[in-house]
Amino acid sequence: MYPPKFDYHRASSVSEAIAMRKEHDGKFMAGGHSLIPVMKLRLADPGCIVDIGRIDGLKGLTREGSDIKIGALTTHATVAGATKADDLPEALTEAAGWIGDPMVRNRGTVGGNVAHADPSSDLPTVLTALGASMEIAGESGSRSVGAADFFTGLFETAMGEDELLVSVTVPSHKPKTGTAYSKLFNPASRYAIVGAAASIEVNGGNCKSASVAIGGLTPNAKRCASVEALLNGKEMTEANIQAAAEAVANDLGDDILGDIHASIEYRKSMAVVFVKRAITKAVERTK
Ligand SMILES: Cc1cc2nc3c(=O)[nH]c(=O)nc-3n(C[C@H](O)[C@H](O)[C@H](O)COP(=O)(O)OP(=O)(O)OC[C@H]3O[C@@H](n4cnc5c(N)ncnc54)[C@H](O)[C@@H]3O)c2cc1C
Repeated sequence: MYPPKFDYHRASSVSEAIAMRKEHDGKFMAGGHSLIPVMKLRLADPGCIVDIGRIDGLKGLTREGSDIKIGALTTHATVAGATKADDLPEALTEAAGWIGDPMVRNRGTVGGNVAHADPSSDLPTVLTALGASMEIAGESGSRSVGAADFFTGLFETAMGEDELLVSVTVPSHKPKTGTAYSKLFNPASRYAIVGAAASIEVNGGNCKSASVAIGGLTPNAKRCASVEALLNGKEMTEANIQAAAEAVANDLGDDILGDIHASIEYRKSMAVVFVKRAITKAVERTK
């Protein structure tokens, strides 16, 4: 397969990239591991690509108070290989380590994954559970959007076409808090058929606060308010976690995705299993 013809421009700064994209009515390219495949499938024909992959200052992890800022061009391999000293939540490092294969992880970027908003991607689910925020640059300045408002639909985000994702900010690892990601993956691509992320803070054996998100089977990653309500204040026993996980059915909405890889009914039943696994693993990590 080969992509349709396109013009190529390489930007050396964020402002240049935004101006180039506008001038040529093009599309940004970071790692190219989602954009080029959709072009080869003829699902996109941008005519012009603005390569942002070599812009200085958009790569790497930076501590900012109790948060960690992840540059948009940081690869999945860098996040997966983060050490304890980097203080990233474990849910994020484990999700990044399960993306695709080594080639995808070495080329694909956090910003590209988030901007593409594929329903089967892993990072939107994890970032939603972690309460991450996305820093976006545009012609008229910068703004920050929380993950819960950023992922708006199937391959849709709150970002305008003229805007560029600059970084993603996540809270660093917190005491008495465990985070985890659990996914049922497509054995060929490793994309999520169902993905669940949890961040659980405990006090004694009880849940003090819970943030749970689900993805893969919904057009965009979603917080699971019903699951969270059944966890808050409860002792973290297997029975209580199971009861909470079963409530995920109330959080999925009506638009559940089914395809040749897995039916709607199968995905719905697997959502309970993987939400339970993510919560159980997060609780274990609080110890
Ligand atoms: C074989 C294979 C297996 C994969 N498996 C998984 C998996 O298991 N889990 C998973 O989550 N993902 C998976 N992916 C997707 C992978 O993570 C991609 O790298 C990622 O989704 C896109 O990142 P990229 O840097 O390659 O973005 P690109 O392909 O360069 O861009 C993707 C889209 O985002 C836009 N974009 C990119 N960067 C920015 C930015 N900074 N600001 C604004 N817009 C931007 C582009 O215009 C384009 O529309 C897989 C991909 C392949 C090819």
